[in-house]
Amino acid sequence: MKVTVLGSSGSLGAHGNPASGYLVEATAGSAVVMDLGPGVLGNLQTLQNPSEAHVVFSHLHPDHCLDFPSLMVWRRYHPERAAHSHHICAGPRLLPEKLGILSANEPGQIDDMGDTFTFTAWQAHHAEIIGGLHITPYPAIHPSESYSLRVEDQATGAVITYSGDTAYHEHLIAAADQADLFICEATWGESSDGKVTEMHMSGAEAGRAATQAGAKKLLLTHIPPWVDWEATRRAAAAHYHGPIELARPFLELEI
Ligand SMILES: [Zn+2]
Ligand SMILES: [Zn+2]
Repeated sequence: MKVTVLGSSGSLGAHGNPASGYLVEATAGSAVVMDLGPGVLGNLQTLQNPSEAHVVFSHLHPDHCLDFPSLMVWRRYHPERAAHSHHICAGPRLLPEKLGILSANEPGQIDDMGDTFTFTAWQAHHAEIIGGLHITPYPAIHPSESYSLRVEDQATGAVITYSGDTAYHEHLIAAADQADLFICEATWGESSDGKVTEMHMSGAEAGRAATQAGAKKLLLTHIPPWVDWEATRRAAAAHYHGPIELARPFLELEI
């Protein structure tokens, strides 16, 4: 299984770094894009035809889904590379309505995107098989319906866990249990002290969660442009002694 970071800037895009998006390629299967924040579609285009990927969402905050209407334009209207078959789009229950509003022409309308996607609503702890991956959503602690995703390669058994956006909590530790790669958000930088509760994590908490889960590698992500990335890594390293990397666009990891 291979993961390529398409964007990793926290809460909004940054210069040279789109908001959240990851391309996951199973050993035997088709591509899956996890989250599609602003700017992610541009980076995806340089790697493959965006029409040839399933799409899954951790949640539907704008920094995780705003390139979806642009993906619909590509899939429907690209002169050579439009979609020729349906792909799966999985996410929170209201996904077809929320994203359909973004693609609609008039207020009050909802674009029915069933011409190109088959929509699936996550059910907590219930795995979906998508593109050769076994994807299990774990409830996250974050405003709006949000999930951490445990992604297992059906061919090899390798596991990636993606925290999505979440505060530190016990479901996240279960989701990342013995993961080969733990992609964990660290929005608050070094520490959560003085920050809003039940929303995000710090580097220190990401490190602690990685240790508790027994994760084999930690990839810190969703760090806003105003936060010190290296200080965030040091804060994680104080609590986790395995390998730590910072998610940067086009970083590729073979799992
Ligand atoms: Zn976010
Ligand atoms: Zn969010």
